[in-house]
Amino acid sequence: MTSWSVVIPTVGRASLAELLADLAGQAQQPQAVLVVDDRRRPEKALTVDAVVLRGGGRGPAAARNVGWRAADSEWIVFLDDDVRLPTDWSEELLADLRSAGPETAGVQGRIAVPLPAARAATDWERSTAGLENADWATADMAYRRLALAEVGGFDERFPRAYREDAELALRIRRRGWKLVHGRHSVVHPVRAERFWVSLRVQRGNADDALFRAVHGRHWRRESGCPPGRFKWHLATVAAAVLAFTRFGRPAGLVWSLLTADFFRRRVSGGPRTTDEMLRMAATSVLIPFAAVWYRLRGTWRHRGSAPWPGPVRAVLFDRDGTLVRDVPYNGDADRVELLPDARQAVERLRTAGLRLGVVSNQSGIGRGLITAEQVAEVNRRVDELLGPFSTWQVCPHDSEDGCACRKPAPGLVLAAAAELGVPPSQIVVIGDIGSDVEAAEAAGARSVLVPTRQTRPEEILQAPTTAPDLRSAVNQVLDQLSGRRR
Ligand SMILES: [Mg+2]
Ligand SMILES: [Zn+2]
Repeated sequence: MTSWSVVIPTVGRASLAELLADLAGQAQQPQAVLVVDDRRRPEKALTVDAVVLRGGGRGPAAARNVGWRAADSEWIVFLDDDVRLPTDWSEELLADLRSAGPETAGVQGRIAVPLPAARAATDWERSTAGLENADWATADMAYRRLALAEVGGFDERFPRAYREDAELALRIRRRGWKLVHGRHSVVHPVRAERFWVSLRVQRGNADDALFRAVHGRHWRRESGCPPGRFKWHLATVAAAVLAFTRFGRPAGLVWSLLTADFFRRRVSGGPRTTDEMLRMAATSVLIPFAAVWYRLRGTWRHRGSAPWPGPVRAVLFDRDGTLVRDVPYNGDADRVELLPDARQAVERLRTAGLRLGVVSNQSGIGRGLITAEQVAEVNRRVDELLGPFSTWQVCPHDSEDGCACRKPAPGLVLAAAAELGVPPSQIVVIGDIGSDVEAAEAAGARSVLVPTRQTRPEEILQAPTTAPDLRSAVNQVLDQLSGRRR
């Protein structure tokens, strides 16, 4: 059985309702439809027939991460909130997913951008139509959840729908996965846009700067992003600046020739309407300056950035079955027995400068089998043997309480992250069962599963990273210290 969920980041555009209606009308239905509301301060909740999660206005990359982490299907299908689905979309999608081999991490849908038949397409319409040839565009892209978890999902430093999809694809392919083009397709209408849209999208030059800072100067070739016009913009700006020096005359001539050439390229093939000519004239003068400005600012801001999700700064251990022998509902400090590799594991990580903590479910308290005092006694003993740990997070609740802290909920990991002052993306959780891994993922942290006899086979299969013992789990964490991942 191929299981799939749909994740749609949205800023509440009207097109969302149409997309959801298209989706509801499909013959094959997803396990879940997760809409991530990415408005910064929503005045009222979205009224849609789907699970709505909060993205917090951090952009589509972060919103999609919130979405896939909340899903537990084999495949995650990302859709933009402004695409429309043909009636056979789900059947074609399923056929694509079923024919994807185990080495295939992602399947992209074909994107059709309808252009007006009666007249030439405007500059904006043609640039939207570029989506038809874009590789790994998340307007309609299915990824294996496992592959997303393996690389930590989208790089949340990309604040807009630009480059974040190509960058994810690059990291996934570098780990040996394949990405393929499928047969299913969506329709991506051209949005009505304002006069200055082509100027506004120059902000994307800051994202190019981030891409380059992270992946080096050959980032375009490696990610398949087509060459841009940045070098021409740089030359145009340089000529304009020189026009104010003693090379004023020739430099001014060069500037006007470059600007006129840029304008000519943009209007050729377009409609000769007054509106379009005015837009192109005004923006062709300003775009080179905007492009260079955003690129410089991005280069400064992202200098020295490491690939997402960056180096590890803290490690959170599960307690029972990971650090100490699992004695069910142990309330007796004398029965604490370290597992063989525990002391060495903790010491190696501490020597490497990592902050360490413990995240532990103790439902025995909620069920009245042991007291909170007894658990604290046991934890003090563990701290004596292995500590001091920088944070201890314990969930005292029974599984029936529906609390937000009991693993696999993310509460304990998030609380530890807050106490340590380390973002979850730079934390590794080491545990022995699936709920340790799930808690990490739900919080946006990484994980290493060290299976014991308690671990179920499917938990091992679903874990993005496993290690045969604590020693090799620590090796894997130390490999991520520099930001490098295996
Ligand atoms: Mg455990
Ligand atoms: Zn709890």
